[in-house]
Amino acid sequence: MRTTGSTGGPAALRAAGVMRTYGKGGAAFTALHGVDVEVAQGRSLAIVGRSGSGKSTLMHLLALLDRPTAGDVEVSGRSASSLRADELDLIRNRTFGFVFQQFFLTAGQTVQENVSLPLVIAGVPPKERRERTTAVLEELGLADKAGNRANELSGGQKQRVVIARALVNEPSVIFADEPTGNLDTATGAQVEDILFGLQRDRGLTLVVVTHDPDLAARCDGSITIADGRIVERVEAA
Ligand code: ADP
Ligand code: MG
Repeated sequence: MRTTGSTGGPAALRAAGVMRTYGKGGAAFTALHGVDVEVAQGRSLAIVGRSGSGKSTLMHLLALLDRPTAGDVEVSGRSASSLRADELDLIRNRTFGFVFQQFFLTAGQTVQENVSLPLVIAGVPPKERRERTTAVLEELGLADKAGNRANELSGGQKQRVVIARALVNEPSVIFADEPTGNLDTATGAQVEDILFGLQRDRGLTLVVVTHDPDLAARCDGSITIADGRIVERVEAA
């Protein structure tokens, strides 16, 4: 996987020999068996493979949501194993944006409230929260939905709100786990266009878990995982 680019700086993300074992003793199950992958700043990587192959496990490790049993993850050259929990929290909150199905919107809260959550966590004052949330909702064509409750939206609108929430803190990396998985083809294509538009226009790094070969083909590179190992690497020209 191409990594450092012409500047020779550190990769935005790097996994070196990461292994992840769940459970202990006789119940232990190794979901990843030593995976190496790098993503340069501004590039996109697809992680593909069958259900249960270890895609989400790898993404959670890269996103510092989980720690490897062995091996290490680096973010812009900083080794995650050397960082304290509060430093990891700060990177997740300031540097990363998440488009995950398990990070659902809070149904009864408004779009505005849902999108501003990362700014609340970051301690941004209310006025600036409102301004930044409004700007990102406008960018995603959701300005007229700001006052709607999340459960009043269509699937595609909800996913755009999730993307808005991922963007509001101006991250440099977006992690998306099956971002189009629950959407119809046309709506999924719109969500893809938004994500790749952000990569192009803002220089965001994009890591996408997907079952969809067409989505994977739009990324700059892809890795295919089977039974916790990388079995194929593709690098776009
Ligand atoms: P994918 O995203 O490719 O569908 P996952 O990374 O979610 O796969 O899971 C890989 C394997 O690890 C699966 O066999 C899954 O059952 C197992 N697994 C995932 N999370 C846990 C967990 N918290 N505890 C035990 N096993 C898990
Ligand atoms: Mg998964």
